[in-house]
Amino acid sequence: MRQGIPAAGNFLHQELAILTGSVEAMVVDVQCIMQALVDLASNFHTKIITTSSKVKIKGATHIEFNEHEALTIAKNILKEAIDNYSNRGKTQIPQVKEDLIPGFSHEYINYMLGGTYRASFRPLNDAIMSGRIRGVAAIVGCNNPRSSQDYLHVKVTRELLQQDVLVVETGCGAIASAKLGLLLGEAGLDQVGPGLREVCEAIGIPPVLHMGSCVDNTRILTVLTQMVEEGGLGDDIDQIPAVGLAPEWMSEKALAIGTYCVASGAYVIFGGSSPVSGMPDRV
Ligand code: SF4
Repeated sequence: MRQGIPAAGNFLHQELAILTGSVEAMVVDVQCIMQALVDLASNFHTKIITTSSKVKIKGATHIEFNEHEALTIAKNILKEAIDNYSNRGKTQIPQVKEDLIPGFSHEYINYMLGGTYRASFRPLNDAIMSGRIRGVAAIVGCNNPRSSQDYLHVKVTRELLQQDVLVVETGCGAIASAKLGLLLGEAGLDQVGPGLREVCEAIGIPPVLHMGSCVDNTRILTVLTQMVEEGGLGDDIDQIPAVGLAPEWMSEKALAIGTYCVASGAYVIFGGSSPVSGMPDRV
């Protein structure tokens, strides 16, 4: 967890962050690294720091991470950034900010629905069975330069909320909703259907629940499993009114996540176009 450090944005913001001229060091590990990052950074004072033995990029500084010396290595990286501050030139930082409430783990959703002594998914299942909520949608995954930034995430999320569907999100998709103010208590409730609004107000939750990074999607499967165990909606994950959507996926990680969700019985939709659709004989 980020321990109070604000997010600067999602996948498509990485080059834009460097363009502000205010990034002393950008630290990357294995995935979701834009190919032109080092070239772009060379126009500014920004140092690109790679940390994984699997990814070394020409022109970047390599400081290899290992978990046994995590704190020392993190301090070394911070020192590189601090030492680079004196090279900072003119900056241009857009003054656009939004608050968000992140961190709804499946344990916390359970507690939130039922309280300390009766933690339970019963209120959620009852809200679906009574028709106040029509189902649950997990809108997850990358944003993609093939559409304008966050376009499909925002469009799908807004539409489902108006249709009384409770939305949980992870990864870059969650940041898209955060920018709209949908991850904030009552602030986002003027944009949702009446049934969902009633439930969110009664429980005290935002209409979109942030469940972590894109590698936390297993938490969503745990929620679905607990909804099944609670009873009344179906005997297995494939029978409950839930869907997983990756409207703008681009990473191989998204494909792996989608595969284990399908294998678990979840209904999964990958949006946008397939990068291998040009080879109909291979897919
Ligand atoms: S959601 Fe996609 S782009 Fe964002 S960090 Fe995860 S894999 Fe990368």
